[in-house]
Amino acid sequence: MNTSYSSLNTFRSCPLKYKFQEIDRIKTPKGPEAFFGTLIHGTMKFIHQGGFLPPSEKDALNHFSSKWNSDVFDDPMQERAAFAQGVKIIQGYYRKFRPDEAKIVALESYFSVEIKDEKGVEHIISGSIDRIDKTEDGFEIIDYKTAKKMPSQELVENDLQLFIYLLALLKRYPEEQKNLKNIKLSLFFLHHQAKLTAVLDEKRIKEGKTLILDLIGEIEKSDFPAVINPLCDWCGYQKTCPMWKHKFKKEDVDSVKQEEVINEYIELYYKIKSNKKRFAEVKSKIDEIMENEEVEQLFSSQGSITKRYRKTFEYDEASLRRILGEKRWLSVLKLNESKLKKVAETLPSSQKKEIEKAKKLKKETFTLGVKSK
Ligand code: SF4
Repeated sequence: MNTSYSSLNTFRSCPLKYKFQEIDRIKTPKGPEAFFGTLIHGTMKFIHQGGFLPPSEKDALNHFSSKWNSDVFDDPMQERAAFAQGVKIIQGYYRKFRPDEAKIVALESYFSVEIKDEKGVEHIISGSIDRIDKTEDGFEIIDYKTAKKMPSQELVENDLQLFIYLLALLKRYPEEQKNLKNIKLSLFFLHHQAKLTAVLDEKRIKEGKTLILDLIGEIEKSDFPAVINPLCDWCGYQKTCPMWKHKFKKEDVDSVKQEEVINEYIELYYKIKSNKKRFAEVKSKIDEIMENEEVEQLFSSQGSITKRYRKTFEYDEASLRRILGEKRWLSVLKLNESKLKKVAETLPSSQKKEIEKAKKLKKETFTLGVKSK
């Protein structure tokens, strides 16, 4: 397979979007977020490729505003906010860093790396690294991020993109294979002017390769389901996506009735949510009255309230295990799926796969998630 990190990532967030983009090759116009990201990346490149005399803050701001395209934005408020954010990022960068001090060896550098699967089939992953710096004892790979929220250090250490970039760097400088501890992999969050850095060892490189091959295997046998995810709001395929079909349905008699039901559900959802908070407040007041009156039952013109105690206990596991014996002990243990998920994240990929194989659908229920405008 010939792919890129961004395609693999698209598949991970929504296989159908991957299909639209990579297999059906349906083009979509660049949305405001993508435009902003590309322009900021371009400006960072402009700042650092200045040669002998790097551009001043004013030059960088001029570059940013000269490339601005108002047509991408439907909403003038959104446009103003995005422009102000861009200016803030550039000013913040100049306040914290001196562009002439960075020892940059490559900017927006294209790469392609090969990974062989167990059958000997070669897969090519290509892309572009935002920036590679030479450090005192090695290199630093830098990927600029325009996301406002910074992820945890753990996520950075397991970041597939940085791992692919490391493979690309090792292809370019094979002698660095012996110097892994001095190759920094950094995500640079421009809104915060802060970096999160990881360093990978041989074991992590092996795990990363397995992860990529697993993903490629999943793509090869996927039937590309649509998966609703936080990026849907910015997806250019909404009009073709079955999950968004209702939004673009032509108005008819049914849709007017449906609108009423949907709106009622949304209203009730928020009412129940705010009532829950109030309910907890009133409950604590009732408890206070009971304490003051030294009673466990209260009466009013509308009825009565009785306090009922529900106790939960903890047992000493070792004693219980000894008393019940191994067989009975196992039958009282209940599998906790969320704990299993957390433990599985720490396991090697082969064991993760075995856990996946051991999974059987027991029952399917649903909840209705609500998002108000
Ligand atoms: S709108 Fe969401 S679910 Fe539909 S294709 Fe795009 S990302 Fe996937």
